[in-house]
Formats: sequence, C-alpha cells, structure tokens
Amino acid sequence: MDVLENLGLRDSVVLLSGGSNFTILREEARKFERAELHLFDPKAGEELERMLGRRVFKGLKDLELLLEDLKPDLVFVEISGLKSLKVVLKSLEISKRVALASKESLVVGGKFVLEKYKRMRDTELIPVDSEHSAIFQLLLGEKKENLDEIVLTASGGALRDWDLTRMKDARIDDVLKHPVWKMGKKITVDSATMVNKVMEIVEAHYLFEIPFERIRALLHREGLIHSMVKFTDGIWKIHFGFPNMKKPIAFSITYPYRLRTDEKFIDPLKLLNISLEEIDRNRYPIFDLFDRMLNLPSSSFIVFNVADEIAVREFLNGRIPFSAISVIISNTVLRFDHFEPRDLKDVHEIDGVGRRMAEEEVEKWV
Ligand code: MG
Repeated sequence: MDVLENLGLRDSVVLLSGGSNFTILREEARKFERAELHLFDPKAGEELERMLGRRVFKGLKDLELLLEDLKPDLVFVEISGLKSLKVVLKSLEISKRVALASKESLVVGGKFVLEKYKRMRDTELIPVDSEHSAIFQLLLGEKKENLDEIVLTASGGALRDWDLTRMKDARIDDVLKHPVWKMGKKITVDSATMVNKVMEIVEAHYLFEIPFERIRALLHREGLIHSMVKFTDGIWKIHFGFPNMKKPIAFSITYPYRLRTDEKFIDPLKLLNISLEEIDRNRYPIFDLFDRMLNLPSSSFIVFNVADEIAVREFLNGRIPFSAISVIISNTVLRFDHFEPRDLKDVHEIDGVGRRMAEEEVEKWV
C-alpha cells in the first residue's frame, strides 16, 4: 500500500482484497476510496460492510468474478496457501501483468501456473519474492540457454546462531525476531526452519524453468546479496543492495522502469565483508526431507505446503515445540502415497488428505 501511494497510484486501485485481514482492509478502505473491497470470510465481510457502509465482496468465487469483471491491468497476488493458486490462474487469464508474491501457488501448482502462463502469451509474470525478483532482474536480456546455475541466498532466520540444543525449544517471540527482513509471522517461522528456502527452490524451478540440481541455497548473513546467477561461460551476476521488501514490490509494478529514490545508496566496499556459507543440515533438517522429495511425484510439494501450514499454526498457538515443525512435515510427507496431480481437483484432494495426516502428526506432540 505504501509503495502504491508513493508511486501516486492510489486512485488507480480498482480492487482491494484483505484476504483474511479484517483490520488492515478496514484501515486501507478509507484511503482507497474507489476500490471494490473483498474478504475471504463471509462473516467478517458482512461486519465490514456494516462498519463502512460499502459493499464488501466475499469468498473465493466472488474474487474470481470480480477479477473477470474488472480486468485490472495488474494483479498483485500475495494470498497465502492453496487459495492463491486459483487466484493466480484467473489473474493470468484476465490481466496484463501478474506480480506474484504467493510462492505457495507455485509450490502447490507450479506446473499448472506455468502451463497457463505459456498459453497466455501477452501476460507477464513478475516475481516479487526478493530472491526471485533478483534472479528475474539478473536474467533480463539473457538467453534462457545461457543460464547455468542459480544460487538463492538465505538469511538463516532468527535462530541461525543459537545453540542446537537450545534451538529445539525456542519460544514464539524468539522465532519471530528475523535478523534481516520484516515480514509476516508465518514466513518468519518458515525462515527459521528454512521451509521458506525449500519453497523458494521449488518456486525458482518453475519460474525460471531450471532443473533442481542447478539450484543451490547458501547462507548469507548480511542480507545484501539477494541471489546470484551463473552463466554457461562461468560468469556470475550478483544482485546487491539494501534488503527492503519495498524494492521488489515496486519493481514488479514499475518494470521495465525503476524507481528513483534519494535514500542513501549502498557502498560497494560493503562487498568486502560479505559472507556465504554452506547450509548446516543439522540446524535445518528440512533439507534432508527435500532431497527425498525430489524423487517423489509433485504431490509431495502440496503435502509439504499443507503440513507446514498446520505445524506453524500449532507452533504459533503454543501447542508444539519449535523442533516439532520439521518432524511433523517430514512424517506427513513420507507417510503420503504420492502421485502426480492431473488437475486442480487432484490438488485439492491431496491438500485435504495431507491436512488430515498433518493434524494426526500434531496430535502425537500435544
Ligand atoms: Mg524470499
């Protein structure tokens, strides 16, 4: 919202969905007076309608119909979970540009998104995730066949320097103190387990159509390198700058132009103190699971996503310890009888069965 206001686009916003966030939509609705409003929860939608005296659309179906009706030039999708997939697919169909902040849509339905994107020749798909925005920028003007390897940088999350035995029982407050980025709760927990980085590898695989074995994640503490790309001639390009989510958000809107800012620029001498490290698998056991998932059909990504959603929810509810998150995800993914989803119906079914299994795994801990 800040980015849109800074770009002077407040009056161009035709639709504002608060997702599940009643409070934020209520605040923003006052500023974005011309926008249609939407919330997923019908009850919350009705309440907001009464408070504002404005119509509020409700549920996924309404959102899809609104998109069809309004045909916005740009749809910025940052819906979490499985719902994001349908919204991304619809947006690719009706819009000129989809700015994609929902990595879940690619994790659960990457092949469907890619299929639709290729069919809609005039639609642009611009990643917003900071690492993927960086890679997108690094690849501008390059031929696809020149791309040899991608390195995604990872901050390591809030517990990166904790003693391993202490880390097991880290409290909610500790996990939510991200060292570099200011983000929502779920993704901040996902950073501490590096589930987020695993999802980003999947995201990069689909967005840039590069095999998994050519994507690597490295720990990078300073947060100044947002990703790196190696080309077939051995040359690396590095995306370097201050970490601030407003940059990739703005880029997804202004591309092919860039913002002009008068803020302090980063001194290139900072490159002298940059560190890159191999990721420690004892600290982030989720990578061992990921290795095994690469030999499984892509239903494993859907189960991974939903098991994480449940485990993080229960951790934030104070019902399970921090160390249980990765165990619950692993057990759920490895219990599932995997297969290749043929359509969205399959995706939903896998999500439903995975959800029940993850809930059973949670019960073993409480
Ligand atoms: Mg990211």
